Amino acid sequence: MFDTILIANRGEIACRVMRTAQGMGLRCVAVYSEADAGAAHVQMADAAVCVGGPAPRDSYLRGDAIIAAALETGAQAIHPGYGFLSENPDFVEAVEAAGLTFIGPSAEAIRAMGLKDAAKRLMQEAGVPVVPGYLGADQDPGHLEVEAAQIGYPVLIKAVAGGGGKGMRLVERPEDFVDALERAKAEARTAFGNDAVLIEKFIEKPRHIEVQVFGDGQAAVHLFERDCSLQRRHQKVIEEAPAPGMTEEMRQAMGDAAVRAAEAIGYKGAGTVEFIVDGSEGLRPDGFWFMEMNTRLQVEHPVTEAITGVDLVEWQLRVAAGEALPLSQDELSIEGHAFEARLYAEDVPAGFLPATGRLAHLAFPGGVRADSGVRTGDVISPFYDPMIAKVVVHGPTRDIALRRLSQGLAQTQVAGTVTNLAFLGALAGHAGFAAGEVDTGLIARDLDALVAVPEPDARVIAQAALAVSGVAEAADPLTGFALWQPRAHWIRLHRGDADIAVRLRVHGPDRVTLETGGATVEAARVGGLWRFDGAPAADVHVARGRVTVFEGYGFAFDVADPLDRASSAAGDGNLIEAPMPGRVVSVAARVGAVVAKGDRLCVLEAMKMEHTLTAARDGVVAEILVSEGAQVEAGAALVRLEEA
Ligand code: ADP
Repeated sequence: MFDTILIANRGEIACRVMRTAQGMGLRCVAVYSEADAGAAHVQMADAAVCVGGPAPRDSYLRGDAIIAAALETGAQAIHPGYGFLSENPDFVEAVEAAGLTFIGPSAEAIRAMGLKDAAKRLMQEAGVPVVPGYLGADQDPGHLEVEAAQIGYPVLIKAVAGGGGKGMRLVERPEDFVDALERAKAEARTAFGNDAVLIEKFIEKPRHIEVQVFGDGQAAVHLFERDCSLQRRHQKVIEEAPAPGMTEEMRQAMGDAAVRAAEAIGYKGAGTVEFIVDGSEGLRPDGFWFMEMNTRLQVEHPVTEAITGVDLVEWQLRVAAGEALPLSQDELSIEGHAFEARLYAEDVPAGFLPATGRLAHLAFPGGVRADSGVRTGDVISPFYDPMIAKVVVHGPTRDIALRRLSQGLAQTQVAGTVTNLAFLGALAGHAGFAAGEVDTGLIARDLDALVAVPEPDARVIAQAALAVSGVAEAADPLTGFALWQPRAHWIRLHRGDADIAVRLRVHGPDRVTLETGGATVEAARVGGLWRFDGAPAADVHVARGRVTVFEGYGFAFDVADPLDRASSAAGDGNLIEAPMPGRVVSVAARVGAVVAKGDRLCVLEAMKMEHTLTAARDGVVAEILVSEGAQVEAGAALVRLEEA
């Protein structure tokens, strides 16, 4: 076994690989870009080397710099993770030329599977069923159109160098073919620098079922299937293992085909053989076709680990170090059911736009496996994939595992960025999904319901308001009581375009009522814990003018700055009023003094913060209407200015 390995990746996969490798007693070297100097994977590593600038091509894709880092730090092997250089045969050759071990398949195996058309031809020869279609070299549009007609519509045009759904077009009618071909080729040219395409029969109601394989360079075993049919625009959203409705007969047929595929290319390490399955009439052993093989560890490998008890990274390290396959096919079996949901920083209502931001708070409940590469305080930067974590659950049955997924998502807490958590939660609660009726079109069919933005109810708003009022956590509740008791007090929150006003009344140290939108919520402190209309309070996070209530996948509100309202409401700007009830801490203004717009006039303490009130315009101080230490009502006049 190696004693030091380098992980040529970042984020959750780098952390995932290190967790196992360090657990096996290996020393781990991380590489990082300038944007990642403080990242979790760097902190976790035993040594770390900066390999360049934030853009991947300046760092994580610089094979030469990464190999140099490995040699410098005494690493004997390089684990590529997924993405970046993981399926780059030139990198594999360079690693080996430097006398290091690449933890993964050979360059030839990667090349054999690198282009979809060549891979499909190879699989056909190995007796693996492939989707009917055209894989030829003749790329003349007229010829492709004839081939498409022969295959029969609908057809799918795919970039041979494709990945991530790019360069792919569904064509339902012959008259749309030429146009779709042009667009697929243009996209493929931009994304892959290769505009060759293949044409496939489009499978209606398709399911994406893939088989995890593991080879030692000669023989291979499979670790059963994963169902990745829950996709949005060809991107996986929730994966599970085993596939719902799978029969022993079909599993055997798919497993055999996948092993044949791996053995045909002398596969070494972890790989995935992806099949498309016709789900229109249930799963049948003659209803699956090879799509492509991914020659790396996949994002969704944890669901396989959950049902087999195998640590795939441990297997990768052992096999790369020259050990035999740790288990034979007969020794592998499935236990229970597992799901993985991909939690992203993305703006779902805006069309799933990737989001950025600082994670003000990040916490996962017990009972789930959360593979993450970020921590509270970390920034989701625009340079990389905005994945926050993979939430993985396991249970004895699919039904129980799915309930655990729902619960695990509901108890996941993220503040500081928008996420797809509510969308994942809606999917986990989808009736068709629960019934196992999965196909790649499910999300698109029900998109409107799945992306509906849940609105916070009065109880949630009340919790946000009480949290920012400072009343709830007053060290000595009686002080708060004395301060607030006689007055009602307004808290203003923003959520999207909505302004939410909450009227808060303190009736005693342990009792507050909050009125918003015509509803009244009773907050009472029982045994030191607040309850709202009798139900326990959710966790709440407050920072930098934002409050997040962790109920129903989380609701975030911006706390309106009362001073913004004060200055805009101040009419001619001559009268400086208290924007909220509070105590006058100091008065800087002196009668007769000439002041300029923005000059400090007095300081008010309210909502546990000091607020500086400034002149809204140039002028002369005409009158000071309060003294230091005075308690004032909201709207009380403090200072009056007049024209100079
Ligand atoms: P990429 O490599 O770009 O991800 P794939 O070939 O893996 O492309 O296909 C991505 C997804 O597209 C599949 O998971 C499936 O949902 C859909 N798909 C691919 N081929 C077909 C087909 N022949 N018929 C129907 N859907 C397909």
